[in-house]
Amino acid sequence: MFTIGAHLSINKGFENIGLEALSIDANTFQFFPRSPRGGKAKDLVPEDISKLEELMSNTDIDVILAHAPYVINLASKSEKTRNNAYELFEDDLKRLDQLPNNMYNFHPGSHVGQGVEKGIELISDSLNKLIKEDQKTTILLETMAGKGTEIGRKFEELDSIIEKVDVDDKIGVCLDTCHVYDGGYDIKNDLDGVIDEFDSIIGLDRLKAIHLNDSKFGLNSHKDRHEKIGLGELGLEAITEIINHRSLKDLPFYLETPNDVAGYQEEIKLLRGLKIED
Ligand code: FE
Ligand code: FE
Ligand code: ZN
Repeated sequence: MFTIGAHLSINKGFENIGLEALSIDANTFQFFPRSPRGGKAKDLVPEDISKLEELMSNTDIDVILAHAPYVINLASKSEKTRNNAYELFEDDLKRLDQLPNNMYNFHPGSHVGQGVEKGIELISDSLNKLIKEDQKTTILLETMAGKGTEIGRKFEELDSIIEKVDVDDKIGVCLDTCHVYDGGYDIKNDLDGVIDEFDSIIGLDRLKAIHLNDSKFGLNSHKDRHEKIGLGELGLEAITEIINHRSLKDLPFYLETPNDVAGYQEEIKLLRGLKIED
């Protein structure tokens, strides 16, 4: 089954976001559990959560993806920023534990001049305190475009974070197609090669989700500017290969393209038409 969804707003609650996903022919969705700028999260409403659970048991929605606030930087030079990131992360995990089958995607962080190695150490130290053996949520490190001092542009960086995390079965990777392309991995002309590289460095068993975006500026731009499906430097042909690739085709795909809900609906329709179902 093709698992495809988009980033939707949680403002009207969990049941409504599920219904909205279904209304655009999606069978998963991504959401911000709180404002992407941080701050306090809305209280969870138990009835709303049971309605989402019910919806998920009666429909094809099987897994959902939370995206951590952008302000989270576990690799910051400032202790205050790191502590704030830790608190938001911890609170998000506590809340996600109450939601049905979900994963939590976050940007590994920016080392702001301390160096990649130091950044990786700070991130993995925090993760070791944050990840509990009995938590339900799988945490995903997102592949990054390499803007500024972002960690996670290279597969090796993600791998060394994972290596340092003790609780092994709660950590994976979300591959963002715009980010990896911007970061220098040529998924347009050598998708097989990039996937092989991912497999040999991190291992494909760690790959749990795809952010499916076209890229406005393209290979090696390090810009991280998403484009609508087919309208960017990746183009429709490459995206068709990605959704049908034998190593990727069964993963959940999430659109983060510059669209409103109607635009997502059109892209999902387009992608469903290009997906080879087996
Ligand atoms: Fe992201
Ligand atoms: Fe992304
Ligand atoms: Zn991005």
